[in-house]
Amino acid sequence: MDVPGEAGRRRTFAVISHPDAGKSTLTEALAVHARVISEAGAVHGKAGRRGVTSDWMEMERARGISITSAALQFAYGDTVINLLDTPGHADFSEDTYRVLSAVDSAVMLLDAAKGLEPQTLKLFDVCRYRGIPVITFINKWDRPGRDALALCDELTDRIGLTAMPVTWPIGQAGQLRGALDLAEGNVIRYQSAAGGGGAPDLRLDATQAEAEFGDDWLRAREEADLLLSAGGEFDLARFTAATATPVLFGAAVRNFGVRRLLDLLVDIAPGPAPRLDTGHHPRALDAPFSAFVFKVQTGMDPAHRDQIAFARVCSGEFERGMVVTNASTRRPFATKYAQQVFGQQRSTVDTAYPGDVVGLVNATALRVGDTLYAGKPPVRFPGLPSFAPAHFAVARPADLGRAKQFRKGVEQLGAEGVVQVLRSDRRGDAAPVLAAVGPMQFEVAAHRMEHEFTSPIRLEQLPYRAARRLVDPVQRGLVDSGARSEVLTRLDGTDLALFAEEMDLRLLIRRFPELELETLVAEGG
Ligand code: GDP
Repeated sequence: MDVPGEAGRRRTFAVISHPDAGKSTLTEALAVHARVISEAGAVHGKAGRRGVTSDWMEMERARGISITSAALQFAYGDTVINLLDTPGHADFSEDTYRVLSAVDSAVMLLDAAKGLEPQTLKLFDVCRYRGIPVITFINKWDRPGRDALALCDELTDRIGLTAMPVTWPIGQAGQLRGALDLAEGNVIRYQSAAGGGGAPDLRLDATQAEAEFGDDWLRAREEADLLLSAGGEFDLARFTAATATPVLFGAAVRNFGVRRLLDLLVDIAPGPAPRLDTGHHPRALDAPFSAFVFKVQTGMDPAHRDQIAFARVCSGEFERGMVVTNASTRRPFATKYAQQVFGQQRSTVDTAYPGDVVGLVNATALRVGDTLYAGKPPVRFPGLPSFAPAHFAVARPADLGRAKQFRKGVEQLGAEGVVQVLRSDRRGDAAPVLAAVGPMQFEVAAHRMEHEFTSPIRLEQLPYRAARRLVDPVQRGLVDSGARSEVLTRLDGTDLALFAEEMDLRLLIRRFPELELETLVAEGG
């Protein structure tokens, strides 16, 4: 099989957005366009909108949210699209960030009325850290919203990305009439009827557009020209280098702009590239099979208490049933049960290529960050970074008689990256501090401690909100001297200085200018 050819056909990306920007709607629209999911409204389950949500955990069911993140795969012409799910609601957690270690590009989805929002910014930070190229889709243009030029300026001013318009709206937000397609030099007409996924875009040439849209058309041209002449001309190299972002305007719920987005992904989004191993050597795409685990999900099926490890293929051809080696244990791992998982839908995967995601069932031996490979010699990819935690809680066994199970469980959850585990001499081993990016991680930890490790826990929230890495352990005393700060050490040896508020951090630095602290977006690896 032509592995580099198969890899070249793949586009593996995630949509990053703030809740309610329209991620589920866009995901559905993309899939509908590619005619995979015949009925829209079936991708994400929310209250009153039950779809293919996974409902593997009681707490998940109770809340009607999905904490399962996996990949949706569909064909679009000759291209194979792998759309990785970034859970984005109350379930925001470290897993959300980790998904971005498995993609080659991202679509940043903005609500036209809101622009950049906090969760989008947090996720974008990770994209920047990893150098992931970002395409921007400004959604809900069928509704009143902000000015198109102002939204583009915001990208430059707040996140330093030059906006390179690929389409430009005709008619302000709420009065959408069409969009200039700057690459094709014509106009996509807006049809206000909902639905119609998969139908071809209706195109007009300049003369037709001027006749039909008059002043709106002239204004759109002027605005687009303004941006183009100010450095917004499309430049593939700047997109790939993640210094500029192509911008599209659309309305996912109306299927407007969706096809253009798919075409853009096919045309410009990077396909899988050789991944660097721990020795910084690129693993050629046609080397024997290799993959890394970016997410482990336990208990998706309550009847079986199974564990699924999601691995992104980095090189070679994956064939279900092949026996591979787990680089961290050097033990063989049989891949008899390989699946594609998206929400509740599972299907067996028989073959996969670089860029694809396989869900390995019964993968109790696999951990987040593990490398799998076939053949010899061994290969190992860098482990996944951990991210700046924002929530902290002291864990104690609810039943003191189960201290042993408690210790084992906490250690295991820390090793798996379910939560980060911190300790200090002052608090002692009996009271480890759990740290998380999102509070949902605590619930998962508590649930597993009770059901899997038979040691229910009590969690006491700590009033810390900000964390920095303490560069020099000798300076620990300076941080510990503050009433609203302390240093805790993570299992991997990193010293984290925690502060109740950013203000406490600034005060301490003013008092001790020699204090060396580093911001944590993501570190380690
Ligand atoms: P998510 O939280 O990002 O997954 O957002 P959803 O896809 O659930 O969308 C949130 C709300 O915005 C829903 O009520 C959608 O119907 C609505 N929505 C999504 N896209 C559009 C759009 O293009 N135009 C309008 N008017 N509403 C939209």
